[in-house]
Amino acid sequence: MRFPRFCSFAAVLVVLFWTSASFASGPPPQPADVIITNARIYTVNAQQEWAEAIAIHGEKIIAIGDNATVETHRGKRTRTIDAQRRLIMPGFTDCHIHFLDGSLSILQVNLDDAITLADVQQRIKDYTAAHPELVWVQGRGWNYTLFSSTGLPDKKYLDEIVPDRPVYLEGFDGHTWWANSKALQLAGITKATQDPAGGSFVRDPKTGEPTGAIKEDAADEVVRHAIPHSSKQEVVAALRRGMLEGNRVGLVRAISADGVHVEGGDFASLEVYNELRRSGKLTMRFDFSMRIQPPALKPSQRQRIEAARQRYHDDWLSAGKAKFFVDGVIETHTAAMLAPYADDPSQSGNLLWDPDEYKRAVAELDAHGIQVFSHAIGDRAIRLALDAYENAQRINHTSDLRHRIEHIEDPAASDVPRFGKLGVIASFQPLHAYPNDDTLKVWAGNIGPERAKLGWPWRSVQNGGGVLAFGSDWPIVTQNPWPGVQNALTRQTTEGEPVGGWIPKERISLPEAIHAYTLGAAFAGHREKSEGSLEAGKLADLIVLSQDLFQIEPTEIGKTEVLLTIVGGKIVYESPHWAQPDAGEKK
Ligand SMILES: [Zn+2]
Repeated sequence: MRFPRFCSFAAVLVVLFWTSASFASGPPPQPADVIITNARIYTVNAQQEWAEAIAIHGEKIIAIGDNATVETHRGKRTRTIDAQRRLIMPGFTDCHIHFLDGSLSILQVNLDDAITLADVQQRIKDYTAAHPELVWVQGRGWNYTLFSSTGLPDKKYLDEIVPDRPVYLEGFDGHTWWANSKALQLAGITKATQDPAGGSFVRDPKTGEPTGAIKEDAADEVVRHAIPHSSKQEVVAALRRGMLEGNRVGLVRAISADGVHVEGGDFASLEVYNELRRSGKLTMRFDFSMRIQPPALKPSQRQRIEAARQRYHDDWLSAGKAKFFVDGVIETHTAAMLAPYADDPSQSGNLLWDPDEYKRAVAELDAHGIQVFSHAIGDRAIRLALDAYENAQRINHTSDLRHRIEHIEDPAASDVPRFGKLGVIASFQPLHAYPNDDTLKVWAGNIGPERAKLGWPWRSVQNGGGVLAFGSDWPIVTQNPWPGVQNALTRQTTEGEPVGGWIPKERISLPEAIHAYTLGAAFAGHREKSEGSLEAGKLADLIVLSQDLFQIEPTEIGKTEVLLTIVGGKIVYESPHWAQPDAGEKK
């Protein structure tokens, strides 16, 4: 009896030992640097949609789950952040931004929300008086609706207020500029100046004199050269302001679609970003593209992209994408349409590239594994971009480069399913579809009601299997993504117009809009394995929000405040409204 009893006792011991050994097998849980507890975490991970706590070590998430699970990662030096039941989600990626241009514009005169010409003039006057040190007065954000007679600005309105210093102002959409007489004079633009390829100087129909309205490439090609370049210190200061603003609204990564305000565009500033990184001052992650201008892709341009990719290709800085402008914008009749504009049948817009040359360029970049971004707004331009990507895939036998089309404002209905079929990323900026007068009168008026119904078809592209990647197009609109999320859900102005939403069938849901700014964005950048959702092993890039988006009306989302932004496990922004409970209250 004793023996068997001993035996069974021994057996129990063995089982106990085995069980505890198996629990203790492997190394103990890795201690975390930071544990965030008591949160409502929307992970964007379909396998584990919601969680309560998260453990971070270094730059990465090491555990996510309930408080108890994550507690096992508490070590001696682990810090705790009590989220106080706040909503946490992955930090946002802005998939289409002109980061340096936007950052520089923070320091310039802002005409974004000026509604009358008198208001615009007053702001410029005030800014000019406040900045006697500036040789050139620069700014942006004016709207076509300010100029009721022609829809285009005129130098006379600027000469009235600033006759003696050059004034140069970018329109809100970045496609038309407004110069005063002094600016035209310094840039050497007269009646005799020829229009460059891809742009034009608007002229008085009677006298032939330039009016001060400058379209598309004429601005870069001719006027930009007359403006002194920003110094490196100015660029550094601007970028730091830009990142601060980005982190403040919840951005952790920007995919920059090149810029024009600094000679050489984004690529010319890569070293400045790199210096910021080395000195620990980079608080957003960046991807950069290089603009390829018509008439053709030069071998040296492809080599420059490849060299930049070789040098910059990590989690913080990566360069190596190509950006094309296939057309302009609908508001100025420069978007390339398959049929004439409704309000002016003499125009149907223009492709900025010869179609064959563009297709050849895309195919060459594709063959070298370079992702392509194509700005295409009119249905004709969008079709050409899809054709070019399809052609490249066919001849190169490539399939996963995830080429993108930017803006996609008015595609033909038959082209919408091609995004899913070809695996082309749909890079939309939801605030561009904000249904104000500019959209409902100018934009829709120019193409007419039938084509306007196809405007910004988020839902249809997604239903066809296309991946949505959202961004702002800052500085064209605010880099704050929350009004964009709201508009993706409502397609209404903040005043609730139009009732029921503009083209309501193209609205999307909150999880879909969040996905487009997070995991969809990460997919667009080939980063879905390391970013875009909150999962163990991914980068700890996350935001704590002031309100629970899942519990409020969509019309309230635009007011969301970010309380805390964490990038790579480090707090890079903390709102004045964020407070931690006293240590004594901590559980
Ligand atoms: Zn853009």
